[in-house]
Amino acid sequence: MNRHHFLRGVSALALSAALGSSPALAADKGTIGISMPTKSSARWIADGDNMVKVLKARGYNTDLQYAEDDIPNQLAQVENMITKGAKVLVIASIDGTTLSKALQTAADAGIKVIAYDRLIRGSKNVDFYATFDNFQVGVLQANSIVEKLGLQQGKGPFNIELFGGSPDDNNAFFFYNGAMSVLQPYIDSGKLVVRSKQMGMDKVGTLRWDGAVAQARMDNLLSAFYGNDKVHAVLSPYDGLSIGILSSLKGVGYCTAKQPCPVVTGQDAEVPSVKSILRGEQSSTVFKDTRELAKVTASMVDAVLSGSQPEVNDTKTYDNGAKVVPSYLLKPVAVDASNWKQVLVDSGYYKASQIR
Ligand code: BGC
Repeated sequence: MNRHHFLRGVSALALSAALGSSPALAADKGTIGISMPTKSSARWIADGDNMVKVLKARGYNTDLQYAEDDIPNQLAQVENMITKGAKVLVIASIDGTTLSKALQTAADAGIKVIAYDRLIRGSKNVDFYATFDNFQVGVLQANSIVEKLGLQQGKGPFNIELFGGSPDDNNAFFFYNGAMSVLQPYIDSGKLVVRSKQMGMDKVGTLRWDGAVAQARMDNLLSAFYGNDKVHAVLSPYDGLSIGILSSLKGVGYCTAKQPCPVVTGQDAEVPSVKSILRGEQSSTVFKDTRELAKVTASMVDAVLSGSQPEVNDTKTYDNGAKVVPSYLLKPVAVDASNWKQVLVDSGYYKASQIR
């Protein structure tokens, strides 16, 4: 090495030490584009943060963008990542069907695409899918209703209302179908009664997972169908909806000593919902460890860039209309007042001070 090169090397090292990072290593492995749907829910913020942390530790640069639930915005962000030369795109889509053109551009440029948590539909240019067992999420939600109402012990009949997630999110159908696989037999036998008769994703879906939309629908259900009768359970697929549903219920006198809250489910173990569970309002939620999802996804990134096969554990379930996308499914965990501390705090996901 001549003196010139040596000095250049030393100053690069000094710069690197001063920045406390390894820019040389990061630059070597390239940039990964991470497209997240929205910051309006804490889970996606945790997902983005975890992805950046894990990918940086593995020597990648990251380009993390949030689209604020605006479809053209997400499309523009993804196109921009492609133009800037991302090596891999990790995408949690808002509407799973709107990215096909951009994904074709990505494929033409040799950029691999990993669908993150939500399946991207209608495109063959989706290489892998990292998610949780979404059907099982719905099963866990419904099991919590069965258990808390005592349906297996023959109690009932009880009134129930059903809420679904956003109809443009493939997951919403898996959650609903999973839940109905448990609830339908009780509905058929009359132990659960949907007084509104509103069933099926076309009737119970909640566009963009919007809590205010769920709250307004619950207001309508309560005034139209529950003048004298009480609702005993509400299937809610996501904590943000559950909080809206509970506000509606409280507005007409539920969640008091005289009239306890109905059983209300949820998903994501978001802090306001965990607090609500501890107050005895929301009954349960489903925890999906975004740290594990980030690890699985980062391993997929490493594998596709080194030309090896990412580890998958499901090659049948996720048909996106153009292909069956090889997937890795993580296990969701049911959380209620009996195990929140063990699952959420002892695992280091939350600090006890965030909850109490
Ligand atoms: C995710 C859920 C989340 C929902 C709303 C779904 O695609 O899988 O974890 O509750 O979106 O953000």
